[in-house]
Amino acid sequence: MKSGWVDSEAQAAIDRYARAGVGRDVALRVYTTRLLGRDPKLVLHGGGNTSLKTTMADPFGEQVAVLCVKGSGSDMASVEPADLPAVRLDPLRQLRTRAALGDDDIVRIKRASLLEPAAPNPSVEILLHAFLPHTFVDHTHANAVVSLIDQPDSDKLCEEVYDDRIRLVPYVRPGFGLAKAAATAFEKNPKVEGLILDKHGIFTVGGDAREAYERMIEFVTIAEDRLRKKGNAKLVSVSLPDRIASIAEVAPIVRGACALRDAFGEGAHKRQIVDFRTGDTILNYVNGKEVTRYARAGLITPDHVIRTGPWPLIVPAPEAGRLDEFKNAVQRAARAFMDDYSAYFGRQKARADGAAMRDPLPRVVLVPGLGLMGLGANAKDARIAADVAEAAAEGITGAEAIGKFKSISEADMFDVEYWPLELAKLGQRKRLPLEGQVAVITGAGGTIGAATAKAFADAGAEVALLDIDEKTVQAQAKTTGGSTIAVVCDVTNAASVRTAFDHVVAAFGGVDIVVSNAGAAWQGKIGEVDEALLRESFELNFFAHQNVAQTAVSIMLKQGIGGCLLFNISKQAVNPGPEFGPYGLPKAATLLLMRQYALDYGADGIRSNAVNADRIRSGLLTADFIAQRAKARGVSEKEYMAGNLLRREVTAEDVAQAFLHQSLELKTTANVTTVDGGNIAAALR
Ligand SMILES: [Zn+2]
Repeated sequence: MKSGWVDSEAQAAIDRYARAGVGRDVALRVYTTRLLGRDPKLVLHGGGNTSLKTTMADPFGEQVAVLCVKGSGSDMASVEPADLPAVRLDPLRQLRTRAALGDDDIVRIKRASLLEPAAPNPSVEILLHAFLPHTFVDHTHANAVVSLIDQPDSDKLCEEVYDDRIRLVPYVRPGFGLAKAAATAFEKNPKVEGLILDKHGIFTVGGDAREAYERMIEFVTIAEDRLRKKGNAKLVSVSLPDRIASIAEVAPIVRGACALRDAFGEGAHKRQIVDFRTGDTILNYVNGKEVTRYARAGLITPDHVIRTGPWPLIVPAPEAGRLDEFKNAVQRAARAFMDDYSAYFGRQKARADGAAMRDPLPRVVLVPGLGLMGLGANAKDARIAADVAEAAAEGITGAEAIGKFKSISEADMFDVEYWPLELAKLGQRKRLPLEGQVAVITGAGGTIGAATAKAFADAGAEVALLDIDEKTVQAQAKTTGGSTIAVVCDVTNAASVRTAFDHVVAAFGGVDIVVSNAGAAWQGKIGEVDEALLRESFELNFFAHQNVAQTAVSIMLKQGIGGCLLFNISKQAVNPGPEFGPYGLPKAATLLLMRQYALDYGADGIRSNAVNADRIRSGLLTADFIAQRAKARGVSEKEYMAGNLLRREVTAEDVAQAFLHQSLELKTTANVTTVDGGNIAAALR
């Protein structure tokens, strides 16, 4: 590993922050914290922390000694000075003489000692930073270092590799006890340049930012060299089937098995998003003959437990063409996993101080032959779980290469998983109604598609936008934001639909909601209409809906956790307009298609509904067309658009809300929701 320190960049950071009134030492603290944070081999997602001891003016204008320590859970790769809240150092140091200090006291002390009352919560490792005398202190969970210390004989390895430059502190849960143990270790040998926290990570210290940072890089490099020189990173593999099924075939099966049925009421499952990873390192790890032993032996650092739980779900290799067997095996394995988790909680709950059990769902799934999956309540959480799982694959492979991977005890892991200060990192997020669900919207480049995409994304769904126009759909995905993906798809082509859905499944793990919205209006007097035109309209306004629904249902059935089909059928389906036959006829067939799906798949928990909207400004109803129709009727454009019982113009957002409500109405199927401001002639009976 190479130092990322560049003099000119360090100076640029000093200059940049000086303009905002931030001192040199804080600027350099931010600079090297970011250098550490940008390397996933050192820290991941809010893990690790750094600090600086300096003086600052308190709100009363008095200069006081402070510790600027990273805020709990904030990301080192993007810290700003405000993310390193300053706390009064002297009172913190006095705590050293206490015999014990409870979690509640630490929480209160953290807030009470902040210089800026509105600052973020300082790191849970604040006292360790405070008790060490050094100006700069850096902490990471570097993969190479944990490979070295996640061993039965970590003390000997540490001595062999680092001599007396680093001291090993035996495992203690982060908090007051660890802070005291670390400070004592330093006092015994004040010349050491860092500390290894057994089965946890590494601290380095320095008189200036560069020294602490470059010691970190040097010590990690020493560990990397040791792993390379005296290790064999190639694990013995199991024999795999000749043909492995694709991720598009496998992910929905795994995702369905890793959902909690009826968690929020009948039919309301707790679903997860899947982030799939593969590559040489991952395959070497998941294909290992002893994967069950080393992958279930614990985590590379306890810091990861809130992201991935204490161990992954391991499923058999998915053989192509034998997916029924695979599905049975995955469901059995997932049930056993959840039973194991409940048993683990039962064994250890006396230590949890009355805390409720976290849900027992797997957050990481290892699939031999294919790769690994991170699972989470949304795409971001799934990505974090996958990143952490990738680090585990590397760290554990390294440990196995030089010995045998060993983590902390189950009780110690439980203490971190249910430590309120650690759980606080996850924040108090409000659950959104479509959290964990994947929504596919066709015709997403259009007005109604765009409004629907936004409504579903706002409700917490991960959204996949399908459209035939690449530029439009990509721009739309950007506007929708979050983890939204854009997929080019010709819905009239069954193969294109299959490929698009495979793409969605590879990105999110499955499909829960489909808004089959793509359509276009053809006109003509029915007795004179050209057959080719009528067939073309049927292709898009009927058969495309069937292509989309059929493909979606095949994925929903694999998942086995229900689903929701939503069709845009238009007023024409129930109230034909003159010379609109070529448009209305296939739409009427699509209304029946919706009912047929409701009938045939209700027992599988798949609901099927439609929205019957009218007179929405869109690609079908352009400004020119509106002007033309209004003129023909002798009314203003405004009057024309509000020509309904309520005298209100109906918008694409209104249609989007109707689709959203249908997706949430778990006891409603075969329903048509009318969004037209009121039109008795088009009312369904
Ligand atoms: Zn740590």
